[in-house]
Amino acid sequence: MTLIEVDSGDASAAEFVQVALPVPLARLFDYRWKEQLHPPIPGGRVEVPFGRRRLIGVVVSCSAGSTVPPGRLRSVGRAIDSRPLLPQALLSLLRWAAAYYHHPVGEVITAALPAGLRKGADAVPGQRERFTLSVDATEVLANLGRAPVQRALVERLARARTAATSEDRTADDREGDDGSLDAVDLQAISARWRASLAPLLERGAITRRLSTRLPLNRARDAGPTLAGEQRVARDALIDALGAYRAFLLNGVTGSGKTEVYLQSIRAARDRGLQTLVLVPEIALTPQLMARFSERLSGCLVSLHSGLNDGERQQGWLLAAHGHADVVIGTRSAVLVPLPRLGLVIVDEEHDGSLKQQDGFRYHARDLALMRGRDASAPVVLGSATPSLESMNNVLTGRFQELRLTERAGGASPPRLALIDIRRRALSEGLSEALVEAIATHLDDGGQAMVFINRRGFAPTLLCNDCGAAADCRACDAHMTVHAASGRLRCHHCGAERATPSRCENCGSVRLDRVGQGTERIAGALAEAFPDVPIARIDRDSTRRKGALEHELERATSGRARLLVGTQMLAKGHHFPALTLVGILDVDRGLFGTDFRALEQMGQLVVQVAGRAGREQRQGEVLIQTRHPDNPMLQTLVGQGYGAFAQVVLEERRIAEWPPFSHVALVRTDAPAPERALDALQSIADFLDHDLAIRGAVEAVQLLGPAPAPMERLGGRFRARLLLQAHSRRALHETLTRLVSVIDELDRVRTVRWSIDVDPVDLF
Ligand code: ADP
Ligand code: ZN
Ligand code: ZN
Repeated sequence: MTLIEVDSGDASAAEFVQVALPVPLARLFDYRWKEQLHPPIPGGRVEVPFGRRRLIGVVVSCSAGSTVPPGRLRSVGRAIDSRPLLPQALLSLLRWAAAYYHHPVGEVITAALPAGLRKGADAVPGQRERFTLSVDATEVLANLGRAPVQRALVERLARARTAATSEDRTADDREGDDGSLDAVDLQAISARWRASLAPLLERGAITRRLSTRLPLNRARDAGPTLAGEQRVARDALIDALGAYRAFLLNGVTGSGKTEVYLQSIRAARDRGLQTLVLVPEIALTPQLMARFSERLSGCLVSLHSGLNDGERQQGWLLAAHGHADVVIGTRSAVLVPLPRLGLVIVDEEHDGSLKQQDGFRYHARDLALMRGRDASAPVVLGSATPSLESMNNVLTGRFQELRLTERAGGASPPRLALIDIRRRALSEGLSEALVEAIATHLDDGGQAMVFINRRGFAPTLLCNDCGAAADCRACDAHMTVHAASGRLRCHHCGAERATPSRCENCGSVRLDRVGQGTERIAGALAEAFPDVPIARIDRDSTRRKGALEHELERATSGRARLLVGTQMLAKGHHFPALTLVGILDVDRGLFGTDFRALEQMGQLVVQVAGRAGREQRQGEVLIQTRHPDNPMLQTLVGQGYGAFAQVVLEERRIAEWPPFSHVALVRTDAPAPERALDALQSIADFLDHDLAIRGAVEAVQLLGPAPAPMERLGGRFRARLLLQAHSRRALHETLTRLVSVIDELDRVRTVRWSIDVDPVDLF
């Protein structure tokens, strides 16, 4: 399998190459090409001298001349690849993205390679591990005790062995016919499979060997027959194969979007095309991967931050060499080379985690659209709660909308209702009405979930005598009380200390824990329903190895009948028995300062609500609020996300926020508040002046500089300046001019700065 061909016509005559290096400078570097090397290969790696170091970089282009004075030009030390590692189209996209997001081009291009290749490792897919169950399954299982991941691994390997020896298997010769599985299969069971496997390997219950053959998966299940709307959507996607086109798959929660993806992927694979699937959460990839490997034959690769460097490089090379039929990954997978790319899927396209929040601040959804265009492939953005950007792209005709309006398999949509908690006594944040509803659902054999997007016991420790709260010493934030550990923790910088028994300000012992978090709610529910098993799912309760899998398993199997959790519970999960969802802290989202606050509140409510009643029984969703008359909340609850989104979109239009304008943020931070603000002021002064001399004062509005809403974080003070423009080009040009001088601006030199184009939040 060859990678994309490059035009080496003039490369053989080239004397100079332009190299991308992992340094924070917005340029490429010229080097002299040595004659004794083969002709330079754009997209291939080279080792070059840089200052006193030697760096590994990527050749971006070749030329017959250089503007660098001959005396200062150095020579390439070594050419590493004899074939391009990054194909031409991807290199162009990376250069475009570096310019668009105003991030140093060398960092963008080198960061597209997995760590091993960045350090110069061989770019050939090496040997892959295969695992086989070598003893009797029942015997191993009997000795396992309560080890859910190990149990699942053994069961999975036992099934593979049975399948391999069964009569009706097809005759094709392939890896896995010996009943072995590879890392991708086991990864699908749990992100922590390797640690769980270790003792089993040691005991000899499972054996491991290395193989050079392709890891091929075989589907074990054909899946359900698609319903009418699903078929229409699938057929539209299959018809579109072969050309770029953008679709919004707007389907209510549980409407069977994943089934539409699966059948479209199968069609793409049958035509020899690769599919790229982007998903937002790490926690979601193993589950989705399990479903994909159940249903798709071929070479499946998953790429996410839970992999070690070796696994990641393996997957990357399988994709880049065109072996992988499907690549499922989080954000950064959008930058993987895919020579046969024919279909791009972005699941939960509204999710903010698709935007990188530091360093190279790209939006994976937007780059996915570019990938599709470059590869002449359709791109499907799927969601039950589409982003307003995508809704608007449907309205303007840039995207074609495909709708799934009904839940699959006959389940009905959940019923939403508000609980007015004004002037009502709440017990630990829970209204009587909600507690009664929980009791009813439990009595009927259902499962109930309480959602609160705050972990810990209480968000504030307040003194009853002087009114002082226990604050973080490094942030403008209260410390959160964690009761089980007896610690106060800052959820912004991670600082912690023991919970004091006396007020740190006045010494009083009359301290109150004010407000609720998951820990407190779980405790209150345990008291109200003493015999009911509870699963609590948040970052604290799932930190221990295997804990998340364990809790999710208890929730899915129905062994835990009460679930309490943060947004970790909101996305994608399918809990068959869940019939009631209670949402506690919706009011915070109603009055957020960020222009996206309302949109995000609506998405979260609908996603959380979507966990209820996904099978036979009707789901009910109760939302506690002190603002039951709020028109936005009324619209959301009464008319659903579509109507809600239309109103929010209209507000955005009037206020001229994205998608009706384009924004970028310049952020600074420094150890002293005035320095961050001063630096931004000098940036604003430059911009004012620059816009004036270009006659562009009208084209780009500056808002700020102003301190960030939470000014102090981790001991540094933060400020921000917002640039807003109607024309993307005007905004871009202004930022380009700023970046070209920013390091020379006096007061900027002593602060940290960053630029965020199309920010998802304004903090
Ligand atoms: P979504 O991705 O829209 O949330 P899923 O694809 O996960 O929805 O489907 C929800 C559930 O409905 C899954 O258990 C799935 O297997 C089932 N399902 C999907 N499509 C069908 C269908 N056509 N017939 C029967 N069950 C279906
Ligand atoms: Zn006090
Ligand atoms: Zn802090």
